[in-house]
Amino acid sequence: MKILVTGGAGFIGSNFVNYMVEKYPEYTIVNVDALTYAGNLENLKPSEGKSNYQFVKADITNVEAMDQLIADGVDAVINFAAESHVDRSITNPGIFVQTNIQGTQVLLDVAKKYNVKKYLQVSTDEVYGSLGEDGYFTEQTSLSPNSPYSASKAGADLLVLAYHETFGLPVNITRCSNNYGPFHFPEKLIPLMIINALNDKQLPVYGDGKNVRDWLHVLDHCRAIDLVLHKGVDGEVYNVGGHNEKTNVEVVKEILKQLGKPESLIQYVEDRLGHDRRYAIDPTKLQQELGWEPKYTFETGLQETVQWYLENKEWWENIISGDYKNYYVEQYGGK
Ligand code: NAD
Repeated sequence: MKILVTGGAGFIGSNFVNYMVEKYPEYTIVNVDALTYAGNLENLKPSEGKSNYQFVKADITNVEAMDQLIADGVDAVINFAAESHVDRSITNPGIFVQTNIQGTQVLLDVAKKYNVKKYLQVSTDEVYGSLGEDGYFTEQTSLSPNSPYSASKAGADLLVLAYHETFGLPVNITRCSNNYGPFHFPEKLIPLMIINALNDKQLPVYGDGKNVRDWLHVLDHCRAIDLVLHKGVDGEVYNVGGHNEKTNVEVVKEILKQLGKPESLIQYVEDRLGHDRRYAIDPTKLQQELGWEPKYTFETGLQETVQWYLENKEWWENIISGDYKNYYVEQYGGK
């Protein structure tokens, strides 16, 4: 089997590529990534040099490049490539439409042209919008995205389903909750807080800190995608989540506790525009129909993740000393 993984130099994509290259030596894994600010080939050290792994630098909106790659005997396309940061979508929505919607359409067209056996779109629970204090997102929950990021992901999801209905393309969509784990880019909540705490910097928490996110270890997510790739029923959507609901401030306090740092480092900052209050996933379909179970509890996963950031200082120091520094200063005023 030859699999084209897009966005495989990002956080989840690189974890997935490393997992697949290791697990399936008989497959060929082709990783295509435009290497935006979020793409980092350092994440792929475990796969580099392995005979079943190839990397190609290209943009998913480039029709010729995608045509050339998929024409070359690709059986399955798994699309992770995206602009993925909600805060950036508020300051610059255009690139989100371009990559997340137009890029998906290009991949779908080419996948259709060469009759790939599976097109798998990696989506997000954010397409469902925000929950009140109770209830869960199921695959039947209607789409109600609130940020330019989630709206672009919802648009892409609708295109994917339309290509199934209209052209019979064998597609699946996975919608997962917030991932965490190794190689998570320092602008996202958990790595940002770990790194700031290690540097004795203030920890910026939006609003009252009570927004709830449902955390999923990235390797549990990779196992879910592996299952959907091999066993998913064409045209179906699968929610992925580990029932780990935490308020942002609970997560931050747990990180401070693990690092032995004081809670006085927490600084409440002005809330994000349109900040969704609560996300929580019901993963029953994936569990009952495909037999998925998460292996990590949030407690063990977070401990391992904090340890990873302690042991991989060079990886994140290289990122925060580059372009990211300017972004951080713009976003948080350099504190
Ligand atoms: P990320 O930002 O870490 O990585 C995205 C990757 O896509 C980067 O390597 C980047 O270089 C690449 N990319 C961006 N634009 C591209 C383009 N035009 N052509 C080719 N490559 C391009 O994102 P992530 O956190 O790893 O998320 C991966 C996917 O999972 C995304 O589709 C995201 O919407 C989805 N998702 C993420 C989370 C999460 O918690 N991180 C949760 C739910 C869903």
